[in-house]
Amino acid sequence: MNILIVEDEEKIARNVCAGLEESGHEAVIADNGNEGLAKALSGDFDLVLLDVMLPGRDGLSVLKALREDGNAVPVILLTALSEGAQRVEGLELGADDYVTKPYFIDELLARINAVTRRNSVLHAGPLMLNLVTREARYGDEKIFFAPREFRLLEYLMRSPGKVFTRSQLLKYVWGYGFDPQTSLVKVCVRRIREKIDRDGDSFIQTVRNTGYRFNAEAGRCQARSN
Ligand code: CA
Repeated sequence: MNILIVEDEEKIARNVCAGLEESGHEAVIADNGNEGLAKALSGDFDLVLLDVMLPGRDGLSVLKALREDGNAVPVILLTALSEGAQRVEGLELGADDYVTKPYFIDELLARINAVTRRNSVLHAGPLMLNLVTREARYGDEKIFFAPREFRLLEYLMRSPGKVFTRSQLLKYVWGYGFDPQTSLVKVCVRRIREKIDRDGDSFIQTVRNTGYRFNAEAGRCQARSN
């Protein structure tokens, strides 16, 4: 996994980074909140380890901004023993777990594995995406998605009902530097629909003049009628 460590204490950050790399992960360090948020929003990471007390923008504010942007990347908070109130607030803001400092790298790895397992399969009726094996199924049928189709569908499925603009999707799936007028998103959505929409509602609904949202009910209706 590609893990982002947002931690301003250099020694801790480097220790965690080394521990993660020894376990086969890739890790990148951001030493302040603003850089952490920008990196987390890039969509390049499978998980974020987020310190609470950070220069620039604190960890809770980073988490809040991430979730407000519709970004559902798993987040584990790194908190001090005395930061009980921040832990509660962090979980309410959408953190997946927390680890109290000082911690053992083995404990951190165990938490990372647990959070990853919890977040590794997305379901909507007959539709299933396994984010670890990158396998997709509709009922018993295996569906083959191109990497960007998989990523776009994953992003929408993580937040059913939430409307994402074309530029948000463009930024998340293709990265920065694309003309917002490009039809990449539209073409990708069409390809996904061709693969997963049976008769009935579409899993990906177009929201006029805005963007798209994932319709988990489409799957449920189809599952019932099958
Ligand atoms: Ca700190």
